[in-house]
Amino acid sequence: MMSKRDYYEVLGVSKSATKEEIRKAYRKLSKQFHPDLNKEAGAEEKFKEVTEAFETLSDDTKRAQYDQFGHADPNQGFGGFGGFGGGGADGFGFEDIFSTFFGGSTRRRDPNAPRKGDDLQYTMTIDFMEAVFGKETEVELPREEECETCHGTGAKKGTSVKTCTHCGGSGQISVTQNTPLGQMVNRRACPHCQGTGKIIPEKCETCHGSGRVTKRKKIKVTIPAGVDDGQRLRVSGQGEAGVNGGPAGDLYIVFRVKPHDKFVREEDDIYLELPLTFPQVALGDEIQVPTIHGNVKLKIPAGTQTGTNFRLRGKGVKNVHGHGTGDQHVIVKVVTPKKMTEKQKELMREFASIDGNSPDEYSSSLFDKIKRTIKGD
Ligand SMILES: [Zn+2]
Ligand SMILES: [Zn+2]
Repeated sequence: MMSKRDYYEVLGVSKSATKEEIRKAYRKLSKQFHPDLNKEAGAEEKFKEVTEAFETLSDDTKRAQYDQFGHADPNQGFGGFGGFGGGGADGFGFEDIFSTFFGGSTRRRDPNAPRKGDDLQYTMTIDFMEAVFGKETEVELPREEECETCHGTGAKKGTSVKTCTHCGGSGQISVTQNTPLGQMVNRRACPHCQGTGKIIPEKCETCHGSGRVTKRKKIKVTIPAGVDDGQRLRVSGQGEAGVNGGPAGDLYIVFRVKPHDKFVREEDDIYLELPLTFPQVALGDEIQVPTIHGNVKLKIPAGTQTGTNFRLRGKGVKNVHGHGTGDQHVIVKVVTPKKMTEKQKELMREFASIDGNSPDEYSSSLFDKIKRTIKGD
């Protein structure tokens, strides 16, 4: 049997940690290891471990049992944990990876108090240029909304919801248990109303009494120009519907940006490798260079070395927060011909035979520079 780590250790909290401390630790760790955000090996296992620890320690009854019996408690099953589908993060288009982990689990509140709906998370894969210039788009996603037939009450038209008489509407009852260590008083969800504090004698036919229906809904999303891979956009009020008249949760969109075949992006700067022939760098040239804003004229001075970086100011990405625009760096790569005609070879030999062409002459200045840098003068 695999040895399981102590739940308190997993969350990094003390045995006397308050619920708030446990919740905070969970939020932090679940974000750190969430499989949508963390692609490192073992992150998903960590996430499951953290979630399991939280499910136990955030529940008074389960926590009391765990404190007494540890992992050995036979009643302490593995919480059913729905695996995160996703996986194929490279897939084209949209991926429905939802999680409600931002909502947290707070079951011990007054069941009749207004509650904010759960937040949703959605991973959107977009093209390189869409990220650079932004785009108006739509996502279609399933989310829970208030049932229109009963306006969220769950009761059939013309009937009403009654307060549960067993728990007086609190949704919870006290149970006294005799254990070998003495009497224990546990508060449990009321079995008569399933913890809702309400009894619905005649259920709404649309939602079967839940007051909520799942609908696929189209939501307009503005991809902000300059957004980068892994950045998150909050769409306020587009998460799950609130409960008991509470506000709706928020929708978080995490962007995955597909790489470009030419341009490499580093924050707001763009890098482009530019292959040039030996005659072009030796004699100089004037060429058209692609940028994300279209072609630009670039002068290659005679004697340009491989690795030279030409900076095209303002030809990078406009910052997503409005902090200026990046540059494009054009990195020269001199390409040696793999095939040459007899005539070319002949001219090359002739070129090589002329004095003053030893490689020393080309490399000495660079090598001197390196030597000076190492010596520090
Ligand atoms: Zn009840
Ligand atoms: Zn209904």
